[in-house]
Amino acid sequence: MVIFSLAAFVKLMFIFNLNINSVFQANIKLKESPSIVSICFSYYNRMYLFLLKPMYRLKEIPHPYDSKPATIIKKCAKHIRLTCLAYQKTTTFSKTVISLIIMTLSIPLHPLNAQTYKINKYGLQLIKDWSGYQTRIKMDSDLALMPLDSLIPDLKTDFVYATKNNFTHTILYQRPRAYLRKPAALALQKIAQQLRPLGYGLLIYDAYRPYNVTEKMWQVVPDNRYAADPKHGSGHNKGISVDLSLYSLQTGKAVPMPTEFDNFTSKAHQGYQNLPDSIIKNRALLKKFMEAGGFSPLSTEWWHFSYPNKTSRGHPYLLMDLNFDALSGQKQ
Ligand SMILES: [Zn+2]
Repeated sequence: MVIFSLAAFVKLMFIFNLNINSVFQANIKLKESPSIVSICFSYYNRMYLFLLKPMYRLKEIPHPYDSKPATIIKKCAKHIRLTCLAYQKTTTFSKTVISLIIMTLSIPLHPLNAQTYKINKYGLQLIKDWSGYQTRIKMDSDLALMPLDSLIPDLKTDFVYATKNNFTHTILYQRPRAYLRKPAALALQKIAQQLRPLGYGLLIYDAYRPYNVTEKMWQVVPDNRYAADPKHGSGHNKGISVDLSLYSLQTGKAVPMPTEFDNFTSKAHQGYQNLPDSIIKNRALLKKFMEAGGFSPLSTEWWHFSYPNKTSRGHPYLLMDLNFDALSGQKQ
């Protein structure tokens, strides 16, 4: 028994060192300073990769970051059961003890304990507070919302939702600033750089939109032809959709487009053709540059474009409900 325990302890220390070293190396490769959370997160994954998977030939590795806590606990329980089964069949006592100790230790270390998101009444995962948002950014810097005016010096904005001059005739948010998630924001920066020599600048109507604004819109206009149903949320709530047009750098005026913003008739559709050639050309120019930059158009709104809903590390962008004051670094 003593020999078994000693062997288990030595093996545990060896595996622990191996994992911590590889976690630091991975972080150095990514040029990010390793935070406690990212170490715990990486350690959790590596523990399964290095230890449990080869030991018991587990096919499925739980992905802790985007699962619900209940799912994680279920998966951990499944792994413990599999480990016990493996012990009964072929493995040694020390192997099983190590696995059980590490799996038990890993549960309180789990980053989900940091409560990065809340589940709302529709069962949607929602980032509602600054600390949850910060924790996620530490895990994956692509999840950060970036202010577009800091990347695009000649960016113009016309935030109609901050006025009563919008389809709801109510002020939907205050002190807005145009934000998109980092990869989408950098892609838009590139598009602006390509349009500049042609004499065009970007005119933003709306970009990231807090989830509560989608709820407000739905209260006023509960019609999914005009507004996003809060049961699903919108790409704007995830910071990956943007409503925009072009303006002339020479005159500062908006380039003529098929309709004004938030016109909900067929005239606003991408495929609507009964228009002067010059307007079709303007619409096609915006679409061409946005698509080349990685954005997808929406068939019913010439102004709406969305970026893919996954970071390069495979994390989906969750709905967010932080208001603009909170994002500017002030307290909510
Ligand atoms: Zn939109």
